[in-house]
Amino acid sequence: MSTKVLVLGSNFGGLTAALALKDELGPDVDVTVVSPSDRFVFTPSLIWVPFGKRTFEDISFRVDRTLDAHGVHFVHEAATHIDPTAQTVVTESGASHDYDYLVLATGFRNDLDTVPGIGLGGHASTITTVPDAFAAARDWTRFLEDPGDVVIGATQGAGCFGAAYEFLFNTAYRLKRAGLDKKVKLTYVTAEPFLGHFGIGGLPHGEQLLGMFTRMNGIETITNAAMESVDERSLRLSDGRTLDFAWAMVVPAFRGQDVVSAVDGLTDDRGFVAVHDTYQSLKYPHVYAVGVAAAVDVPWTTAVPVGVPKTGFPTEQQAHAAARNIAAQVRGEEPVVHKAFGDIPALCVMDAGNNGVIILADKMMPPRKHGVLIPGPQAHAFKLAFEKYFLWKSKHGYVGLP
Ligand SMILES: Cc1cc2nc3c(=O)[nH]c(=O)nc-3n(C[C@H](O)[C@H](O)[C@H](O)COP(=O)(O)OP(=O)(O)OC[C@H]3O[C@@H](n4cnc5c(N)ncnc54)[C@H](O)[C@@H]3O)c2cc1C
Repeated sequence: MSTKVLVLGSNFGGLTAALALKDELGPDVDVTVVSPSDRFVFTPSLIWVPFGKRTFEDISFRVDRTLDAHGVHFVHEAATHIDPTAQTVVTESGASHDYDYLVLATGFRNDLDTVPGIGLGGHASTITTVPDAFAAARDWTRFLEDPGDVVIGATQGAGCFGAAYEFLFNTAYRLKRAGLDKKVKLTYVTAEPFLGHFGIGGLPHGEQLLGMFTRMNGIETITNAAMESVDERSLRLSDGRTLDFAWAMVVPAFRGQDVVSAVDGLTDDRGFVAVHDTYQSLKYPHVYAVGVAAAVDVPWTTAVPVGVPKTGFPTEQQAHAAARNIAAQVRGEEPVVHKAFGDIPALCVMDAGNNGVIILADKMMPPRKHGVLIPGPQAHAFKLAFEKYFLWKSKHGYVGLP
């Protein structure tokens, strides 16, 4: 009888883990992906959605078809209950699925409690999920009809600073193109202790470079900021300052999915799965977690808490590591791949509308030997090309490609 692996989540981590498992074990493994989304979404392009630069079709594809073509079953339902002792997962319809190994690639949900007033139904847009990004597109259109000051920010505990910067510079670019740059005050408010910290402790010359980018675009910046709430047309900071705006976009902190955090002893207090460097759960050796769902320790203390950016490249690396380690366990061996999150190379592009910065470092977390930021229009061109390449690669299931 073949080994049964259930993978929860069908995006970066889930798709890669499922296909890598098939590559490792072929017919000896029966892989099923469970997900409420039957489309793979290239999240890095959500920053362009509010400006009408991308439709949902542009940045997504039918993941169930890709999985089917590679012999992976797909259950188009959210998981609602995980029992790691009985080794079963219940889905929305009430169906129960048993497993020998479970891979959690369930990503995040927005933490909308820490700073009330962000996201759908709130007063500040966000762009971190598909519905939020399309709601932000409506808000941007309304803003253009009646423009005023703009605030872009990232709350305490946020980790996705790259997206906040990308959105900031894309907004500056769009304001310029709309002839509004001289009329609109644009402010960036961040929990980071200094510009260019990015939640990874900064990189050489990063603070100067981000300082130059913000000055060039006439952007006011407030670092070390904790937010209190977003009210109608104003952002209240914990130190009592208030920033008025006609439109705001704020990146919140993330939490793990409730179905994962409900499992006894599985997660940290933010709902992320505590893992070894094999990506096995500390408590349940047959449960793995990859990507945003896996917990990462923040290796420093800052005046205002900042999270760690769990980006696409480490997610893929973790998914490959989990697949190889499950294959080893199936063969009766010890898990073979030990790869701490902090030791995975950093490879990212910060888009700035018609410009940008390529970010390269030998490790996600310091101490590092090498780290470099390469600014210039080639970064924008690289991000455009990378989007097309990544969607092509993922749609065809070529997860072995870089
Ligand atoms: C706005 C934005 C911009 C970004 N830009 C970049 C960038 O430029 N470069 C970069 O490297 N990274 C970027 N990232 C980070 C990147 O998107 C993540 O690293 C990546 O999405 C992590 O993949 P994941 O599979 O862990 O989680 P996700 O992509 O969040 O996928 C989670 C999956 O879990 C599924 N799921 C949710 N709940 C359940 C449930 N109950 N049961 C089963 N399945 C469930 C979802 O449907 C989804 O398929 C960005 C992120 C955001 C939000």
